Amino acid sequence: MRTFAVIGLGRFGTAVAETLVANGQEVLAIDIDPDKVEQIGDLVTHAVQCDATDERALKAIGIDNVDVAVVSIGEAIEASVLVVMTCMELGVPEVIAKSGTVKQGKVLEKIGVHRVVYPERESAMRLAHALATPNQLEHLELVKGVGVVEMPVPPRYVGMLLRETQIRTHYNVNVAAVVRSHGLDPRVPLNEQDRVNFIPSPDDLLREGDILLLIGHEHDLARFQEEQ
Ligand code: ATP
Repeated sequence: MRTFAVIGLGRFGTAVAETLVANGQEVLAIDIDPDKVEQIGDLVTHAVQCDATDERALKAIGIDNVDVAVVSIGEAIEASVLVVMTCMELGVPEVIAKSGTVKQGKVLEKIGVHRVVYPERESAMRLAHALATPNQLEHLELVKGVGVVEMPVPPRYVGMLLRETQIRTHYNVNVAAVVRSHGLDPRVPLNEQDRVNFIPSPDDLLREGDILLLIGHEHDLARFQEEQ
């Protein structure tokens, strides 16, 4: 289990802390505002009120013992930069910072933060992506430019073996898994584990209602979806 610090308990920081706790992780929650600390106090492992721009205060509460720090202290660039730098200087192995703007994100990247997240931009992009590709059930960016897409088997592939579809050759995307809607006998419901075929073989038959999990470069995935 890893330990996390969440610094800044606005809506984003609070949601991160709550979800980490719900996933059984240890969370140290920090905010300069005593009310925020009190509100989250019962939920997280430790909640501490301190000014995170103060290096000595951060050290005193043991920030150097956490594995990951999530910095989400709002729009003030100066404070974010200072807190990120302090966490890195104190040896936190992974520092993630929330940014509202690309400009702020660039500054944070320049000073070496491990990851910048842009919650509003990212959720807007996810929504727009979903609206633009209604067939797509799920889209996840794994690393920059490479993603996973979940979508129903396009009608033109129904009844084909995986190798006959030539999806990999034609589109440079890999079918990482096939989620079955039903077994060979459609009247018999599949149990949950048998539903996901995560080592699909070239001889697997694609059937109506199956769902494909595709992995590839975003532009290849987009082309695949457009051409169905
Ligand atoms: P959202 O609410 O959508 O996450 P936001 O990041 O702008 O937006 P704010 O509501 O501004 O969030 O919350 C930032 C939090 O960070 C506030 O709770 C604020 O008290 C806290 N904060 C700001 N400066 C410091 C600091 N120097 N040290 C610790 N906490 C801070």
